Amino acid sequence: MNSLIGVLAVQGDVREHARSLESLGAATRLVRRPEELDGLDGIVLPGGESTTMDKLLRAFDLRDPLRERLQAGLPAYGSCAGMILLADRVLDATPDQQTLGGLDVTVRRNAFGRQVDSFEDDLEMPLVLGEEHEPVRAVFIRAPWVEAVGPQVQVLGTVTTGPAAGRIVAVRQGSLLATSFHPEVTGDHRIHEYFLGMTK
Ligand code: GLN
Repeated sequence: MNSLIGVLAVQGDVREHARSLESLGAATRLVRRPEELDGLDGIVLPGGESTTMDKLLRAFDLRDPLRERLQAGLPAYGSCAGMILLADRVLDATPDQQTLGGLDVTVRRNAFGRQVDSFEDDLEMPLVLGEEHEPVRAVFIRAPWVEAVGPQVQVLGTVTTGPAAGRIVAVRQGSLLATSFHPEVTGDHRIHEYFLGMTK
């Protein structure tokens, strides 16, 4: 049976993630209500605006059920705002901003700077892609980076060029995967493929 992957659909680039997952043969379900979490093999938290997604998660009564699923081991992949939602600690958050948490990392929102709203880089991600593969073209859009990681967190990718060189932009901790960038916009499905591997 193919995996059934939810895409959190309260806000953000929901369709692009669903398309990537479907092109890899997964079935997808847009998730807006708590019942729609039932029977999922994994869930994607898309990019968008983390403060808005946080408010909508609470308004739709999804926050607590989703947190419980994540704590129970539901595999999740958060991209950009989704990374912020999975982080235990957020710098430059709005005063009332909450996260789902689970990833023992500190992320900084809009970390690449006000002037640099978007930035692109080629990332080597040997733990994800293997040693001999083409790098991933990473597109960062008002993206966070990871400033600190706990001992259980595996660093999967760092920026290679420019003033942000060395900054952590992809991490995994057990069933949780997060990237600062948006693989769903480049047509490169390897990050989603890696995530599907985590859901088996
Ligand atoms: N800056 C956004 C936030 O704080 C994230 C941007 C994105 O997901 N492209 O949520």
